[in-house]
Order: sequence, then structure tokens, then C-alpha cells
Amino acid sequence: MDLGHFCGWLVPARCPLCRRVADPNVLVCGECVRELNRSPVLRGDPPEGVDRIASCADHDGVARELLGAFKFRHLTGLGPLIAGFMADAAGPQGEGQPIMVPVPPARVRTWLRGFDPVALLAAEVARLTGTPLPDDPLLARRGHGRQRGRGRAGRLADPPDIRPLEGAARKLGGREVLLIDDVMTTGSTLATAAGAVRQAGAASVSALTFTRRL
Ligand SMILES: [Zn+2]
Repeated sequence: MDLGHFCGWLVPARCPLCRRVADPNVLVCGECVRELNRSPVLRGDPPEGVDRIASCADHDGVARELLGAFKFRHLTGLGPLIAGFMADAAGPQGEGQPIMVPVPPARVRTWLRGFDPVALLAAEVARLTGTPLPDDPLLARRGHGRQRGRGRAGRLADPPDIRPLEGAARKLGGREVLLIDDVMTTGSTLATAAGAVRQAGAASVSALTFTRRL
């Protein structure tokens, strides 16, 4: 008997989102998955510079718990589940599909967290939808990147500094770009990223996020 099995026998496995006792072979309980499946895809009011947006759920309830567990409790195994919902919301991309550009994290955030959650989600969504994802980052973000915990007015007044990197124009010129982010709050980060890809010559910009604050 391995140690994990032994611990599972002593303490029943619980869903990391709702803490209900759950099948130890699943990442998230069936009730939470059903609730996530019930969320309609949100497509209204794209931020400035973004032509179309799709988000899987309101930034609340189980969806918010799931994203928080992935990002802040480092449960990176939840990434493919989140990416699966995002791939469904994106729908089939087909011919002339867009090039995927993840919204870059502040470097200090990645350093503190030890991983870049958006890059991880983008890689999985790219794999599931067959959307091209460049190997190297095309955008750079400067500054502290502290958006979480700031008020709406503060975020809108002080958007992040996101710029195209050298070589972005070669990859993005004349293309449709699909921006990927984990959450849209005020839309100022996506608007800034959209401005940066347009500066690099993108012909149109759509966005895909897991949650969205309504
Ligand atoms: Zn649950």
C-alpha cells in the first residue's frame, strides 16, 4: 500500500473547490463540474480594441474557486480542466484560424508564484483547439503587475504597461489574434494587450478568458 492510498483510507478525499467528500480518482467533484457546465458562455461588451470576447463563467462561485485553486494554491493539475472549458467556449477555429497570444504576466508575479498560469492555460487551449501558439512571447509587461485587490477605479486609471517585443510584427502583421487571459475584471489589461498586438500590425483581435467579473 502506498502512502497516498493509506492517507486516503484515513482521511476521505475532498473536492478542492467545495470541500465535499469526493471520489479520490477525480480532481473536482461531479457537483462542481455540473455547476461549471451550467454557466453560459459570456460574450457581451468586449473591452476597447477587442472585436469579440468569450468567457466561460462569471468570476464567482465554483469558477472563481477553481481559478483560485489553480493560481494561488498551485493545483496545476486543474489547468487542463480549466483549459477544456475555455476550448469549448472558443469553439472550432477552422480555416484561417487566429494566432494565439497569451497576456503576459508581470515578471515579479511569475517569480513569486513559480509558474505562469496564463501561459499554461494557453498551451493547453492551443493543443485542444489546434490554434497556433508562438514558441516565444510576443508581448512584454513591465511594472509590478498588481491588479488583484485593487479597486475598479485604480485599475482603470493605471493599466499595465504591455508592449510588443521585437519580432512581434513579423508574426502578427495582418493576422487575427486571439488573446488569452485567465480573468477579465475591468478589461483594462485586455485593452492594453489589444493595443500592443494592433501596434504590431494585427488585423483583428478576439479574446478568450476563463472568468469575467460582471
Ligand atoms: Zn466540488
